[in-house]
Amino acid sequence: MRRHLIAGNWKMNGTRASIGLLLSDFKQELEAATAAGRVSSDVEWAVFPPFVFLAECQHHLAETSIAWGAQTVSEHAYGAFTGETSAAMLKEFACQYVLVGHSERRQLFKESNKDVAKKFVAALHYDLKPILCVGETEIEREAGLSLHVIQAQIAAVLELDAQLPNFQNAVIAYEPVWAIGTGKNATPEQVQEVHAAIRAQLRVHRADLADQMRIIYGGSVKPENAKILLEMPDVDGALVGGASLQAKHFVEIGAACNH
Ligand code: PEP
Repeated sequence: MRRHLIAGNWKMNGTRASIGLLLSDFKQELEAATAAGRVSSDVEWAVFPPFVFLAECQHHLAETSIAWGAQTVSEHAYGAFTGETSAAMLKEFACQYVLVGHSERRQLFKESNKDVAKKFVAALHYDLKPILCVGETEIEREAGLSLHVIQAQIAAVLELDAQLPNFQNAVIAYEPVWAIGTGKNATPEQVQEVHAAIRAQLRVHRADLADQMRIIYGGSVKPENAKILLEMPDVDGALVGGASLQAKHFVEIGAACNH
């Protein structure tokens, strides 16, 4: 039985004050929704603030079951890498998770499949749970290349080190680039097709773990469309951008796991 994961990617948004408010709103909304039986305690939650607000998360969330993590991580352990943050540093702020290979990192910061794979391995080595983001562009989808692109993104990780002992802690997030922040939705059928293909690919390399690993979906997930997406058999949660900045909407998305 895979536990649903609802993860909020806050991207480069917020101030110290607004992040503090968002965290306390989120805690309150979640507590109320759980007490009212609208959100199952089986759902796992995680938030991804900008690096400088990780301490704020630790302060607000330490006594809760909500996890937090960073939006990227260095592949290196330490040294002369100006602007970078290592996995060991993230552990000091009690991060459990880290996003790797978000499409904005791939597109705007030119991270290659190989770069992302190294970050993934660095995270696992330091006992962080990497959420590997994969997905095709609109042009690639229209050219019928979606699965080819996604399988290459995953293969880079599997080829580098699929034998890591804690590999099952990793999560894969399918995020079609054309659906991120655009309001355009992938249909539940499109999402299920990709998730099933990802699980089949995992099975080839790690037959022992493929059924345990969580594959979550991201791309304009909102309270209105969450249920039909989360009902799909291979959809194990959601990675939420815009809607995670409003505590009420974010919690409503988690409530859609109740089926
Ligand atoms: C994201 O940034 O990972 C994302 C899915 O964004 P949005 O929900 O805003 O499309």
